[in-house]
Amino acid sequence: MRGLVLDAQWDPKPDYQVSDWEKKTGKAITGNSIWRNPTLEVLDWPDPKPGPKEVVLEVQACGVCGSDMHFYETDDQNYILYPGLTKFPTILGHEFSGKVVAMGKEVCQLESGDMVTAEEMIWCGRCIPCRNGYPNHCTNLEEIGFTIPGAFANHIAVDEKFCWKIDAIAERFGSEDKAYEVGALTEPTCVAYNAMFERAGGFRPGHSVSVFGAGPIGLAAIGLARAAGAGTIAAFEISPQRLELARQVGSDAVYDPREVKTSEVLMELSKGEGFDFHVEAAGAPEMIITEMEKALAINGKIVQIGRAAQRVPMYLESFQVRRAQLFGSQGHSGHENFPNVIRMVAAGRLDLSQIITARYNLGETVHAIARSVERTDGKILVKPN
Ligand SMILES: [Zn+2]
Ligand SMILES: [Zn+2]
Repeated sequence: MRGLVLDAQWDPKPDYQVSDWEKKTGKAITGNSIWRNPTLEVLDWPDPKPGPKEVVLEVQACGVCGSDMHFYETDDQNYILYPGLTKFPTILGHEFSGKVVAMGKEVCQLESGDMVTAEEMIWCGRCIPCRNGYPNHCTNLEEIGFTIPGAFANHIAVDEKFCWKIDAIAERFGSEDKAYEVGALTEPTCVAYNAMFERAGGFRPGHSVSVFGAGPIGLAAIGLARAAGAGTIAAFEISPQRLELARQVGSDAVYDPREVKTSEVLMELSKGEGFDFHVEAAGAPEMIITEMEKALAINGKIVQIGRAAQRVPMYLESFQVRRAQLFGSQGHSGHENFPNVIRMVAAGRLDLSQIITARYNLGETVHAIARSVERTDGKILVKPN
C-alpha cells in the first residue's frame, strides 16, 4: 500500500537530556528536542496484517490536524515543532474513519464491512492510570500517527477495542461517503467534548460560553456548546474564514482578537456579569488566560485544550473572588466520549459537516498539510481510497 511517511534524524539538541527510556524505546518524549531534518513523502509501506484482536480498515477519510502541521513546519535548526511523543519513521494521520476489510481470529465486536472511526490514543489498560479509569493519562501510550503507523494510508490495523461504529451517522446523512467524512471529525470533536464535559464538568443550559481559537477543536467546542444549551456563545479567531465557520456552527458573536479587547467584549456581552465557561483552543494561554480571568462569572470555569509549552501569568485573586476554576485537559478516550459524540451527530444535534473545507487524495497529502499551514481552513480531509 501507500502512505504518507515521516522520517527524521535522531539528533538531540545539545541541552536536552535523553532519558534511558527514550534510548531503550527509540521514542522521543519531547519530539521537537530530538527529531531533525524531517522528510514527508507518500511512499510504499507494507500492507498491515491484523493481529488476533485487530481489524484492518480501508481508510475512507483522514483529517489533517494541527499536530501534522507541526511536523511539516520546523524551527531555525530544522527540528520539528511538535513537542510530544513520537517515533519515526512512521505514517502520519490520526483523525480517521474506514471500513473493516479484514480481522483477526479473536475479534468479537466488529464484522467485515462495518463502518468505524477510532481513537488515536492506544492506551494499554494495564498501567495504574488506565486501571484507575484515566486512559488519557496512560503511561504506556502508543499514538496512531505519532509512534505507530497512522491513517494517511490505504489501510490501517487497529485493535477493535479502539474502534467505534458510525453506522448511525450513515443513517442520519443517508450517505456512506458523508458518514465517513463526518465520522473522521469524531476524534477532534471528542477532544473538545472530553475537555468541556468530562474534565470541566460542563455548564448549565443558558450559561454563556467563550471559545478562543476557531480551528477544528474550537469549532467543535462551539458546536457542542450550542447543542448543550449554552446561552450566548462568543468566539475569537484571527482568520476571517474561520470566524465565518464559527458563526455557522453556532457562535452568536465573533471577533478578531487583534481588533478588540477580548475581556471587555465579554463583559459587555454579559452586561457586567462575566462569562460562565471559557474554552482555550488557540494554544496561546499566555495571552488568553489573562483576558479570561478578567471576564469570569461567579463560578466561572476555564478549560485549557490548546497546547503550548509556555508559562502563564495568572492573577489568582480573580479565581478567589469569582469562585472560579481552571481545568487542564488532554486526550479523547474513555468517559463515554466517543459514543456520546457519535450519538449527538446521529441525532442531528451536532452537524459539523460544514467545517470540512477541502478534500485531497492520498497522493496529495503533503499539499493538504501545506495548505493547512495557512490556518484559514476548517478541517482538511484526505480521502485515500
Ligand atoms: Zn489531532
Ligand atoms: Zn495504560
